[in-house]
Parts: sequence; C-alpha cells; structure tokens
Amino acid sequence: MRITAALVREKGAPFRLETLHLADPGPDEVVVRVAACGVCQTDVHGRDDYFGIPFPCVFGHEGAGVVERIGARVTKVEVGDRVVMASPSCGKCSACRRGLPGYCADARRIKFGGRLRDGRPPYAESVSGAFFQQSAFATHALATEGNVVKLPDDLPHEVAAAFACGVNTGAGAVLNVLKPAPGSSIAVFGAGSVGLAAVMAARIAGCATICAIDLHENRLALARELGATQVAREKPERSFDFTLEAAGSAQALRAAVDVLAPLGVCCLVGSARKGTEARLEMTQLQHGRTLRGCIQGDAPAEAFFPQLFAYWREGRLPVEKLVSYYEFSDVNRAVADSLSGKAVKPVLRIS
Ligand SMILES: [Zn+2]
Ligand SMILES: [Zn+2]
Repeated sequence: MRITAALVREKGAPFRLETLHLADPGPDEVVVRVAACGVCQTDVHGRDDYFGIPFPCVFGHEGAGVVERIGARVTKVEVGDRVVMASPSCGKCSACRRGLPGYCADARRIKFGGRLRDGRPPYAESVSGAFFQQSAFATHALATEGNVVKLPDDLPHEVAAAFACGVNTGAGAVLNVLKPAPGSSIAVFGAGSVGLAAVMAARIAGCATICAIDLHENRLALARELGATQVAREKPERSFDFTLEAAGSAQALRAAVDVLAPLGVCCLVGSARKGTEARLEMTQLQHGRTLRGCIQGDAPAEAFFPQLFAYWREGRLPVEKLVSYYEFSDVNRAVADSLSGKAVKPVLRIS
C-alpha cells in the first residue's frame, strides 16, 4: 500500500516527506489511516540516533486515526473504528501479565527494533519503521491489535494524539504511582506536556499545593492556568510530600530529591540519554524518602486511557490547552518549536 511518510535519511537529518509502500497487516495487526500525530522528545532522540535504529527510518509514536484494514485474527477493533496508538508490548512476559506493559521485557526490540513485532520489514523499501509499532509520522501506520485503544466519539483525533504518550506518562505518574492523598503537596520539575499533565492530575487528586518549576515563563503561566498553586524558575525553598522529575535533567533530579519531606516520594519520568549520571545526597534518602522511575503511566493503556478520556470530558484534563497544531509538511518546524520550548505539545494534522 502506497503511503507518504516523514523519512529521516541519516542521523540528525531533517524529516522529508517521501512515498513508501507499507506491508500488509499480519494476523494481529491493523492499518490505521493517521489523522494526527503528536511530536515528542523521543522522536527527536530517534532522529539523533539514541536508539541505534538503522537509517533511513520513520518515527512518530503518538498517532491517532481510523482503522482501515485489520488482520485475520483481530477482534478488538473493526474497520472504521477511531483509535489512538499507545506504547506496544509483547503481552506475554511477566510484566505484561502483571498489567505493567511499560516494563515489558521485550520493550526495547518492539519499540526500537525498526521492524514489526514478528520481525517482518514494515515497508517494501529498505527503510526502518515500526517505531513503537506505529511509525505514525505517515499517512498510514501498521499497529498491533494490542497497542490501539478505541476513542470516544466526542474526542477529536488531534487532541487524542496528545494522550498517547506525554499526557499518559505525566498523569499516570501522579494517579498510578504517587497517588497523593487529598491535601498533600507536590512539586513538578519540568512543565512540558508530561509535567503539565502531572499538574492537571495533581489537581484531580486534590493536592493542596502544586508547584511547577520550569525555565520558560510561557509554560509557568500555563501551569498556573492548569492548576499550579505556585510556580518557580529554580529549586523551591519549601519541602513537598511528592515530587516529579519531568525535565530529564540531572540537576532537576537532584533538586526533586532535595526538596522531599521525610517519607516523601520522588518519581522520575524525564527521559535522559543513556549514560547520564546524577548526584544525590545520600543522607537525604535515609529519612524514609523514596526515589523511583515510571514509564508510560504505569498502567495498561486499555484500562487507563478511558479514565483519562472521562476526565477530559469533565473538563478536568483540558489537554487541548497544551497542543499547537501543524500541517504534516511542517514537521520540521513542529520539531524546532518543541525543542525551543515555543510549543508544549506540537500535533501534526496528517489526513
Ligand atoms: Zn511483555
Ligand atoms: Zn513520547
């Protein structure tokens, strides 16, 4: 099947729209006509060869659209269903069986192997893809039945795309990992889409004090609008019951542990390059403090996304406030605006 995809020819090269031929769906796969796709730091990391995927390659892992074809064994969705594509997993390992697919033992190969989950090449051309089993910077994507989630009729594709990764990650870290009791205090380091989703989730959880820390004034203003009770450009003076590191920086992690109250919990979701080291004050952890990491919201998308969609419908998770829209042909501008901080969550309108 002939498609248009944003191809990266070599490490660090710009995205270029080119024609490719997508493979037919395997028994448990679906072809999604991509209506919209979010742009995330992880796509930029892919472009810059953090994952060792052979170039040329198609990225994009926050796609939403309409199911156009289904494999022989697919039962979860039908042709014409509106879906968002989430992070994939093997569905068989112990983490997957425990309902924690974010920690799938085969995640690295399935997300960054460049090929479909069963090892087939995704395109007729010699091009890597199947990024997060979607490669949704394209008019059409091949996903597995397991990583598509049906959308409610009232949720537009271009808003749904933002849920796929960033919103799920930030909201899940708060609601599924930290689980703050009403009245507690939380500090969120990094007010990008993940951090701002965490701010909204902290308000949903009933936190009394929600502090957002970021260098960008525009993001701090948005954090206030979304529920932050205080904002700061550097490490706050007071202590917090919970902190979230959503900046992917060693300094932010250090600060997020330093400002924890005794028995406080810090959750790390920021994505740093492999090999990044952070320093910690050892005595700080001694007083009952916990530091843990979390990926993809710590819950199966199938169970957690419908909860998030319900919060969106109630107006408690106004994700559209994070989103700036771009035409597909403007993908390089969307990436640049994401890197500069001008856009919090760029979403490409594809078809
Ligand atoms: Zn697994
Ligand atoms: Zn992402």
